[in-house]
Amino acid sequence: MPIQSLHDLYLDTLRDLYSAERQIIDAFPRMIEGTSHDKLRAAFTEHLDQTREQVRRLDAIAADLGVQLSGKTCRGIQGILAEGEELMREGAGPGVLDAALISAAQRVEHYEIAAYGCARSYATALDRGEDAAALQETLDEEGDADHKLTQIAVTIVNRDATRPINVERELGPGARLADERRARSEPDTRL
Ligand code: FE
Ligand code: FE
Ligand code: ZN
Repeated sequence: MPIQSLHDLYLDTLRDLYSAERQIIDAFPRMIEGTSHDKLRAAFTEHLDQTREQVRRLDAIAADLGVQLSGKTCRGIQGILAEGEELMREGAGPGVLDAALISAAQRVEHYEIAAYGCARSYATALDRGEDAAALQETLDEEGDADHKLTQIAVTIVNRDATRPINVERELGPGARLADERRARSEPDTRL
C-alpha cells in the first residue's frame, strides 16, 4: 500500500509494531527456556505478559480506526530474533548464554522504543490523543524493560559469565550454593 500521508505512515507503523509484538510473543518461550538466572527468567516472563497487553492496546487502536493491522511482516524484528536464535544455537556456551539473551532482548526493546516513539508522535500530530496515550504507555514499558535488563546484566549475569564454567549446570544446585559462599568468603558447610 502506498504511503502518501502521515496517516498512511501511522497505519504502516502500527502494522509493523503489530507484527513485531506477535513475533516477540512467539520467541519469548524459547528465550525463557534458555535462561539459567531466576531474575532474568522473571524479567522475561513479566515482559511477555506486558507484550500480550501491548498487542491488546494495538487491537483497541485498530478497532477505533476501523482498520486491520495483520498482514505485514516486521523485517527488523525478524532479523533481530534470527540473530538471537543463531547465538542460542551455536554461539553462546552456558556461562555466557544469558548475557547473549539479554543482548538480543535489548536490541528488540530498542527497535520497539524507536517505532513506538514515532507512532506516538504521529498520533499526536494527527490529533489522536487517546492513541498517543496508549502508545506512550507501551513506550514506557519498553523503556522500563530495557533498563531492568541492563541492571540484571551488570549486577548478575555479566559477572557470572566471566567464570570459566556454569557451576550449577556442571555440578548441580548444591555446588552453586557452595560456589556462591566461596565468592562471599563464607565457610562451605556442605563439606
Ligand atoms: Fe513490545
Ligand atoms: Fe519493522
Ligand atoms: Zn518489549
